[in-house]
Amino acid sequence: MQSALIVYSKHTREYAKLISKRYKDVSFLEVTKPPTEEILKIKNNKDVVIGIGGGSVIDTAKIISKDKRCIAIPTTAAGASMTPYATIWGKRKMTIPTKKPILKMDYNMPKNLSFSVRQSTIFDALSHAVESFWSKNTTPQSRNYSKKAIRLLNKHLNRINSHLNKNDINELITAGNLAGQAIAITQTNVAHATSYPITIEYGIDHGAVCGMLLPYFVEYMDFQGLPKLFKLDSTKELVALLKKSFIPPKIKNFDVKLIAKLAMKYERINQGHRKISQESLEKILKKIAG
Ligand SMILES: [Zn+2]
Repeated sequence: MQSALIVYSKHTREYAKLISKRYKDVSFLEVTKPPTEEILKIKNNKDVVIGIGGGSVIDTAKIISKDKRCIAIPTTAAGASMTPYATIWGKRKMTIPTKKPILKMDYNMPKNLSFSVRQSTIFDALSHAVESFWSKNTTPQSRNYSKKAIRLLNKHLNRINSHLNKNDINELITAGNLAGQAIAITQTNVAHATSYPITIEYGIDHGAVCGMLLPYFVEYMDFQGLPKLFKLDSTKELVALLKKSFIPPKIKNFDVKLIAKLAMKYERINQGHRKISQESLEKILKKIAG
């Protein structure tokens, strides 16, 4: 039997205990917030690091594991199990290269997602899939991943308030993994670049910021072929659907000038099919600020 470090969140605590029985000499680490620079200092001496949870948990496990084996058991649609990097949040956002973890899908895990986690993870995954779809870096394979992810996620957009059964949650995780594979090829672009400074400055959850921004960038990009993936005829209809299915967070004292300036520093902001200037970005953010 191998020794293990199990990384989990409060939602997956019970499940972490169950998994621990398969290993000898187990340590636990409960994640309560997205990874910060502190976790770079954590030393791991176990054979394997297991992450059970959403994006923050899996990113933490990926970073801590370094050259040791890392197993990811995703419980949301974050898609972090499919990418060879992790995000660290501090005064600025850093991308840390990691190994891609070994994905384990556990279909029997008792799962539940609160409404806000569900809304946020669906829109994060959707942002990954949509941004990848209109990226300048697409390949036939990345397009295929994003199309599949969008089709699965679209079902959930149309029933955002209804009850989720086990099957639905597994479908969301699968969609998130597909979208993760798409961005592992293309990277994200305009919406994610803009989301980072908003999360850092105002402490708002990553997925919630993605959901707030996405309709406005869909409108700006007006990308041919995208509405059809949602079984819609026009960008206008798609924008309406996205706005209808997401309750945006409220930002107090939203400094659109500052955010536009900070967002432009992320090179990926212009990896979408239509370039954006700081001026146009400011205009879009003003609409959001109301
Ligand atoms: Zn994301």
